[in-house]
Amino acid sequence: MTSHAPNFYFPAPRTQRFCSQCGTPLIRRIPPDDNRERDLCEHCGAVHYQNPRNVVGVLPVWQGKILLCKRAIEPRADKWTLPAGFMELGETTDQGALRENQEESGAQIELEQLYTIIDVPHAEQVHFFFLARVLNEQLAPGPESLEAGFFGIDEIPWDELAFRTIISTLEHYVSDLATGVFPVRHYTIPGPAPR
Ligand SMILES: [Zn+2]
Repeated sequence: MTSHAPNFYFPAPRTQRFCSQCGTPLIRRIPPDDNRERDLCEHCGAVHYQNPRNVVGVLPVWQGKILLCKRAIEPRADKWTLPAGFMELGETTDQGALRENQEESGAQIELEQLYTIIDVPHAEQVHFFFLARVLNEQLAPGPESLEAGFFGIDEIPWDELAFRTIISTLEHYVSDLATGVFPVRHYTIPGPAPR
């Protein structure tokens, strides 16, 4: 074989080589009146800002059990997650959380309160998880999920969870169940320690 379709991967690295407006190779420099380096186009003048991405998700509960999905895709395929994913342009956090749940679990849910706001600066992300009420037992996991299911508090597969954002959100939930009070939790997940 001399050629084949590329393997699309996601997300693309942040580094950008060419101007998205005119295709000229970019340079890295601090623009006038700015205080940090950006990708600049010396041909058309475009400044290519990079900013954190938002991830939105839900912690859906059905009769005391938590809805988890087993990931079919990398990263962390075969691990369990709460339904969550990157916000799309033009949607609100609520809409994004509902969409991600629909895509990954197919469960019918109603959003409740915002529950965790998690800064993940080393991944250039901010995660938002809502508590949600599952309206019926029916699940229809989409192609991003191998399966979806309900887990009692004693059945949470702690060693098989996909991400620290998921683990910490579930830890807070289990802890708050003891008091029945669910304050909004805002915290940071630090990057890997330097070696
Ligand atoms: Zn340009």
